[in-house]
Amino acid sequence: MYKRLLIAGFLIILALSLSAKPRIVILATGGTIAGSASGAAQASYQPGVLSIQQIIASVPDIEQLAELKGIQVCNISSQNMEERIWLELFKTIDNLFTHDLCDGVVITHGTDTMEETAYFLNLTVRHTKPIVITGAMRPATSLSADGPFNLFNAVALASSPEAQNRGVMVVMNDYILSADDVTKTNTVNPNAFSCPNYGPLGIMRDGLPIFFRESPFRHTASSEFNITNIVSLPKTEIIYSYAFASDVAINAIVDSGADGIVVAGVGHGNYNRAISKGLEKAYARGIMVVRSSRIASGGVDQAAEEYDTRWPVSYNKNPQKARILLMLALTKTKDSKEIQRIFKEY
Ligand code: GLU
Repeated sequence: MYKRLLIAGFLIILALSLSAKPRIVILATGGTIAGSASGAAQASYQPGVLSIQQIIASVPDIEQLAELKGIQVCNISSQNMEERIWLELFKTIDNLFTHDLCDGVVITHGTDTMEETAYFLNLTVRHTKPIVITGAMRPATSLSADGPFNLFNAVALASSPEAQNRGVMVVMNDYILSADDVTKTNTVNPNAFSCPNYGPLGIMRDGLPIFFRESPFRHTASSEFNITNIVSLPKTEIIYSYAFASDVAINAIVDSGADGIVVAGVGHGNYNRAISKGLEKAYARGIMVVRSSRIASGGVDQAAEEYDTRWPVSYNKNPQKARILLMLALTKTKDSKEIQRIFKEY
């Protein structure tokens, strides 16, 4: 009798744990997914208006995927993203995972700087549980708004056991995109995101992920960057290269007391003599310089066409991602060889 009761109890616990839904926390930061327009076919709109509760309520069946908790971190357009919010996102996620308060995190975000937040968290949150970032290209009030399906897919992905230890992922327009390569490649179309060097990690179908590949870079749990006690990040800027660029911008950056500069070079990371002179000044002042490119794919290696090979190169990190990696590298070292090693591994 006692044995039978024990078995029945065990089966009930097993059934309960099997039917328990994953606990997903949605951290809302604003953007078009929370945007509102005056008409359903209106191109102009105001981002960051709706609350996370309103957004969740607009997605049919989402509560069946997971036990959801929404937290409004801020409600901004992502061009106004701040270092303070990045650090808050890091701390919140680190705390949720460290204390096993949820099984996965979804972040709703404006699309303009989504790839940057994704890469920052990819390098700093040292856990294996899924972190998925999503947003929308059309406001919530639009005809065929893309936000609700993107959020459904993001929650479904964060709930999937297959999403563990894959680094931070962006889900947009059914694609699963890795934080290390994803970039915005269209200003207005719903199919605005791609991974120009490696292609998508996978796709979402029927609320399930289908993965094609893994990220070849170190990320999340295997990251060496520990920012737990950091209250402000090194200052890193980007200098853009173009035909007959003047030295105005580079000199201003050098004089601003920046810790690091990323060159968004033309072609294979090239820049003209005016910028080169400014970079020499930077070098003399101990400012770390990384050579990247404004070209969308292909990256930059050490085969410099002209000028200097002293600077580390970004390989296939675009300038905005190279800036973030340089920022984090500078929390550890000022040695250019070590920074080059970091750019190879992340
Ligand atoms: N510029 C706004 C932002 O990045 C709206 C763009 C969007 O979310 O698609 O938040």
